[in-house]
Amino acid sequence: MIIKTIESYLLELPLARPIVAAITSGDRGAACNTILMPVVRIATDDGLIGEGFAWAIGAGGKTLLTAIREDLGPILIGENPLDNERLWETLYWKTQAVGRVGVIPQAISALDLALWDIKGKVCGQPVFKLLGGMRDSAPVYGSDGGWLNMSVSEILSASEVYLNQGMRGIKIKVGHEDPGIDRQRIDEIRRALGDDVWIAVDANQKWDFATALKMGREFEQLGCAWYEEPMTCEDVHGHARLAEKLDIPIALGETLGSLHEINAYLRADAVDIVQPDITRVGGLTPFLKIASICHAAHRPVEPHLMMEASVHLACGLPAVVGLEYMPWLTRAFAEPPVVENGRLSAPTTPGLGLNITPETIEQYRLA
Ligand code: MG
Repeated sequence: MIIKTIESYLLELPLARPIVAAITSGDRGAACNTILMPVVRIATDDGLIGEGFAWAIGAGGKTLLTAIREDLGPILIGENPLDNERLWETLYWKTQAVGRVGVIPQAISALDLALWDIKGKVCGQPVFKLLGGMRDSAPVYGSDGGWLNMSVSEILSASEVYLNQGMRGIKIKVGHEDPGIDRQRIDEIRRALGDDVWIAVDANQKWDFATALKMGREFEQLGCAWYEEPMTCEDVHGHARLAEKLDIPIALGETLGSLHEINAYLRADAVDIVQPDITRVGGLTPFLKIASICHAAHRPVEPHLMMEASVHLACGLPAVVGLEYMPWLTRAFAEPPVVENGRLSAPTTPGLGLNITPETIEQYRLA
């Protein structure tokens, strides 16, 4: 079996609600209303189709599409799609000089997911079964209801919807220019929801060390479950110092771009809960290695976004313990995974089990 053709598209999907986080506010960007979704369809000479995808928000979608079309896709033509490790190494080393992290691994991730889709279809099994079949569903927390541009009462309404579905809790964005506002908001939310509700906070890399430490102590007092991305992702040593001083678990990983960047955090004892993004680390193939080193370090893995693909990791592997419910890409899929009793079930059809229809591609196609 060989890869015969690769088609690629860029979709632009509307978000259910416009979003503002510390990473998209002030001089770091603007509010977002849509998400960009590069999609690839790899066809084999046997007539199998593998579908893969990536994501970008704010900018970068066309750059990803160009990398797929012009540089990476052509390398795969004529290759055996089952050789995902060899093909990942080939794609990475041929392009490493222009993108060790960032655009290149993110573009590779869409192709890598399509190869895994084909592998599952060849075996007649959903991907999570190929990975190890740890469980049939994984717990989710609500993550699309706590943006900086929402009022406390809007956050409470959104939280109620999630909690009524049995989700294990909610995550709230923090990182206002005045951190006192964040303290006030989380305090009000905690009082309204009660002491037993699982609430995590996410600062999207906003603060310097002194502010991060001060706010971490506030969030500890408020009983928050984890403290996500308190400082810039480049500051491994700063996060190690912070983790040493705080009791609240430090969660991060979404902005890290490789197995090696995540390994640096583990080696420095700078992270408690690891949140790799399957797109940003280069796809499912490198994610498996990340899950293994986290397993060995006894650090739970909670994948960032991309729940439609990451559900296979959470259901396949013991180290990947839960998922972030963020339905940004859901409308692209004919058969998106469903939440029942607060858990997302893995698809049972062969491959990734998603299916992006030609009608959907036409409806949302940007390039
Ligand atoms: Mg985050």
